[in-house]
Amino acid sequence: MYENPDGVMIGLEVHVQLNKLKTKVFCGCSTDYHNDPPNSHVCPVCLGLPGSLPVINKKAVESAIKIGLALNCNVEEHTQFYRKNYYYPDLPKGFQITQYDFPISSGGYILIEGEDGEHRVGITRAHMEEDPGRLVHEGTIDKSKYTLIDYNRSGMALIEIVSDPDMRSPKEARRYLDKLRNILEYLDIFDGDLEGALRVDANISIMGGQRAEIKNISSHRGAERALLFEIVRQKNVLRRGGVVVQETRHFDEAREITLSMRSKEEAHDYRYFPEPDLVPLKISGWAPAIKATLPELPDARRMRFVEQYSIADDHARALTSELKVAIFYEEVAKKAHPKTAAVWICDVLKGELNYRDLTIEAFKKEHMLSVIELLVSKKITEDGAVDIIRTLLDKGGSPIEIVKEKGLMKVEGDIVSMAAEEAIKENPAAVADFKAGKEKALNSLVGVVMKKTKGRADARAVREILLGNLG
Ligand SMILES: [Zn+2]
Repeated sequence: MYENPDGVMIGLEVHVQLNKLKTKVFCGCSTDYHNDPPNSHVCPVCLGLPGSLPVINKKAVESAIKIGLALNCNVEEHTQFYRKNYYYPDLPKGFQITQYDFPISSGGYILIEGEDGEHRVGITRAHMEEDPGRLVHEGTIDKSKYTLIDYNRSGMALIEIVSDPDMRSPKEARRYLDKLRNILEYLDIFDGDLEGALRVDANISIMGGQRAEIKNISSHRGAERALLFEIVRQKNVLRRGGVVVQETRHFDEAREITLSMRSKEEAHDYRYFPEPDLVPLKISGWAPAIKATLPELPDARRMRFVEQYSIADDHARALTSELKVAIFYEEVAKKAHPKTAAVWICDVLKGELNYRDLTIEAFKKEHMLSVIELLVSKKITEDGAVDIIRTLLDKGGSPIEIVKEKGLMKVEGDIVSMAAEEAIKENPAAVADFKAGKEKALNSLVGVVMKKTKGRADARAVREILLGNLG
C-alpha cells in the first residue's frame, strides 16, 4: 500500500492533436503543414476573421467519440460547443471554440502501473476544442524581445482529456501519459512524433497547500521533471511558513524549473456561453457503430498474449506498450517459439535498440526468426545470439553470414570434453581450491574452457561436464 507521505495529488489535462485528419476542425485547411512555411495553411475561419463561419468536421467528432470509448467513458446524448473568451495573440478572434457543459464524453478511467501495483486513474471528461496558433519566442519566454506567431496550427482539432486528481507521484503521472499515448497510438488517430501532437498541463497540490497549474509541458519526461520540481518548491514554501497560492506556472523545459505566470483564472473569468454558429449535436446514436470499429487496445492485447502464447505478464506488458513492437512480436511468434521470442525481443533486442536510439523498424523480423531458430536448434549459444543481434544493428548482413564469418557455430561433444580435460590438467591450483570447497574456482575453470572453445561452447553445459569430471 502506497502511503503518499506528502499528500501529493496530481491531475493532468492532455491535449491531443488529431493530426491524422485531412482537414482542420472548422474549416477545409489541410493539417499537413509540418514541413511548410509558417502561415501557409490558413483561411478566414482559422485566422478568426470577422464574418467567417465554422463548419464542424464530422470525422473529428467520430475520433473524439472513439477516444471517449477507448477511455471507458460514457458518450453523452447531446454535445454542444461553447465560446471561451480570452484575448491573446494566438487566438485572433478573441475566443476559443471549446466545450463546457455537454462534453463529448465523461466518467471513464485508465489502468496504470502505480506505486503499489495496478492503479486506476479516473477520466473526468474528454472534450473537443480548436487549437490556437503557435507562439515562437526567441530564446526563453521571460527574456525574449519579441514573439512570432504561426497560425498553421490554429483550428487543428484537439481533444482535451482531463483526468481526476488520482496520481500520487510524478512517476505515476509519467506512467499515465505513457499509457494514454499507447492507447491513442492503437486507435491510429494521431501521430505522436509530430510537433505539438500531445501537450500537457498538470495540476498539482501537496498537503496543506493550494494547487498550481503548470503549463507548456511537451514531453513525458518534461512532465515528470516539472512535477518533481514543483513538489520541492511547494514543500519549501510551506516549510518557511508561507502559503502555496493557486496560480498558473510556466515550465521552462531548458532549465527544468517552473515560473509563476499569473494567478489562476476561474471558469467564470472566461464567460463561457454556447457557440451560436454551431448547432448542438445529438451523438448518442453514433456510439454503437463507432464502438464496433474499435481496435484491440493495449490491455486486451496484453491479456491475450499471456493466454495465447503462455508468456510472462511483464513480457506481455513490455511488448504491447508499443504498437509496432506488439505487431513485430506477433508476426515472429506465429512462426517461432513464442516464449523464446518474447524473452529475446523484450530482454535483448529492445535494450540493444534503446542503447542505439533506434526503433523496431531497424530490425527485420526474418532476422529475429533466424536467430531464434539457431538458438532453439542449439546451433549457437546465447552469447552468440547477442553477438549476431549487435552485429546486425551495427553493420547489417544476415544472421547466417555472421555465424559463418565470426565462427559462432556452437561446439559440443568431444571438442568440449577435451577442452575440459585440458583445463583440469593445466590448472591444478583451481582444481584443488574447488575440491577444498571454493565454489568460485569452478567459474575460473569454466572461463578456461570458454577461452579454449573461443566462446562457442554453452557455458551451462561446460559447467556440467567439469562437475562430472571433478566429481
Ligand atoms: Zn482554415
